[in-house]
Amino acid sequence: MPDIIQLLPDSVANQIAAGEVIQRPASVVKELVENAIDAGSTSVKVIAREGGKTLIQVIDNGCGMSETDARMSFERHATSKIREANDLFAIRTLGFRGEALASVASVAQVTLRTRKHENELGSELVISGSAVQSQEPVSCAAGTSFTIKNLFFNVPARRKFLKTNNAELKHIIYEFQRIALANPEVEFLLEHNDTEVYNLPRSNYKQRIVHLFGKAINQNLTNIDTDTSLVRISGFIGKPEFARRTPGEQFFFINNRFMKHPYFHKAVLSAYEKILPPETIPSYFIYLEADPDTIDINIHPTKTEIKFENELAIFQIIIAATREALGKFNLMPSIDFNTESAMEFPLYNRDEPIRTPQISYNKDYNPFDEELKHGGRRDPAGGENLKHWEKLYSNEGLPMRETGSGSVETGQHDLSFDQHNQKDSFIQLKNRYILTPVKSGLMVIDQHRAHERILFEHFIRSLAMNYPVAQRTLFPETIELDPADYMMLLEIMDDLHAIGFDLRDFGSNTVVLGGYPADSRNEHPRELLEAFLDHYKSTEGDIKISVREKIARSLATAGAIGYGVALSAESMQELVDNLFACESPGYSPSGKPVVVILGSEELEKRFR
Ligand code: ADP
Ligand code: MG
Repeated sequence: MPDIIQLLPDSVANQIAAGEVIQRPASVVKELVENAIDAGSTSVKVIAREGGKTLIQVIDNGCGMSETDARMSFERHATSKIREANDLFAIRTLGFRGEALASVASVAQVTLRTRKHENELGSELVISGSAVQSQEPVSCAAGTSFTIKNLFFNVPARRKFLKTNNAELKHIIYEFQRIALANPEVEFLLEHNDTEVYNLPRSNYKQRIVHLFGKAINQNLTNIDTDTSLVRISGFIGKPEFARRTPGEQFFFINNRFMKHPYFHKAVLSAYEKILPPETIPSYFIYLEADPDTIDINIHPTKTEIKFENELAIFQIIIAATREALGKFNLMPSIDFNTESAMEFPLYNRDEPIRTPQISYNKDYNPFDEELKHGGRRDPAGGENLKHWEKLYSNEGLPMRETGSGSVETGQHDLSFDQHNQKDSFIQLKNRYILTPVKSGLMVIDQHRAHERILFEHFIRSLAMNYPVAQRTLFPETIELDPADYMMLLEIMDDLHAIGFDLRDFGSNTVVLGGYPADSRNEHPRELLEAFLDHYKSTEGDIKISVREKIARSLATAGAIGYGVALSAESMQELVDNLFACESPGYSPSGKPVVVILGSEELEKRFR
């Protein structure tokens, strides 16, 4: 039997490595820009075409490379940044694994032009699918320029999995933002299809954030600053009421490297506990500095997951630092974060006059936690959820027997309203649920989900008939969006018109809003649009539902009355009437139960 094990050719090994390091055009941008920073550049230009699929160019004014280094840089495990294993514990550069360029060159057509400042001539090297095509002396600017064409040209399976140009551009923007935030002293330019996306002058950290996320963010940030022997923390955190529903402005950096750290993210959130509007995430830009030998960067090839030696201690330090910074907003002069009263602070809406605190509810409690995904089934009685029903009262101190047998057969309920179906038979519970007697028992309706369902079906009809019903705004509003949101909005502009938004593109990340869909609850069109975008973003990756349905869903969620809103008897009546005029009143657009019935049998059992 002959031996069968062989060493893989370099080109194949590199392609395999590329699978981990280079997933999409944005990964190329990340690796090349990090190299430019490591090379000591003070100016970095990124130029992309078609979401980076056809072209990515990164031009820097860093140290440049000699002719031999230019050739070497494409070898796997070739790096100028570490020499021995011990260096791994003192890493100050972004790169050190020496695999990025080898990986890129194995899956694209690359041209490198580079010149060291002290040399007169530079070197041009062309390499395609790991094969060097040519290397010649050229005259070029000092520094380095990489041109990457046709990414994955030789790996059709990967090329096929790339998303739309706008989606890929968005990923590029995210990587770009991370590096730009970590290096404010470097000037950056990002250009896509000949349009400037960002032009960032040298600045400080705060200005860099403002340049990236717009002027509005300025007054919403406060400094965070703490120095301990384990870690130094600096940066900015956002006001609670500025928090958004979708992630996007949460950044941790360690020694000027962006990192993802779910555990420290929890620390920040726990400092904000009880002062955030429900289901929102605060903005933060937190820069950590720690001795390199107390962290391990080398867990994953993309180096965004970092292990800290003293994770628990740093977790506590982050909580303390965040709380101290929050104290500076003076919103809560002496909040004791451990008391329940903290959640009654009216931090919800900056523009509204302060309301008296309403009945507090446990915002984390979701009676439908074990919800069933029923899509749009016509089954208002969602019987299985009744098991959890009694929990609605569990905080109220009512005598409640633990019982495992709460469920009532689905479909057996008579939903006709009991005796006099009048408006006084509606009771609102915790400004969240509408209770009303029906023939078969007690019906509980989730007010937000009910309104979501009503709006959803209404929007789907508008879209299908292309007959939008719009509410004009008194004064058209000019809204500056972050570039990623702006691109996304342009993509779905036609559908937004069909649904009732009067939106015009104004160029440079700006749109003018002149009207919005009728029936939406949100009185502030700008907030409605922003909330819509937040929700839309969170459904964007879902390939099971169509774009139009995503739009209708997101807008329904954004425009539906929220929890905590007190409803008059008339509004409750109207809501319930409209709900049962829907095709699928039983479930919210995302498949969560809207209506739960507590059957009279169940009640009888409990009173026995
Ligand atoms: P790493 O960054 O991990 O060292 P790379 O494959 O990204 O590995 O780069 C290999 C080497 O090429 C780097 O160590 C560096 O010496 C050189 N290099 C890459 N990009 C640049 C650049 N823009 N300017 C100067 N040198 C560069
Ligand atoms: Mg590198």
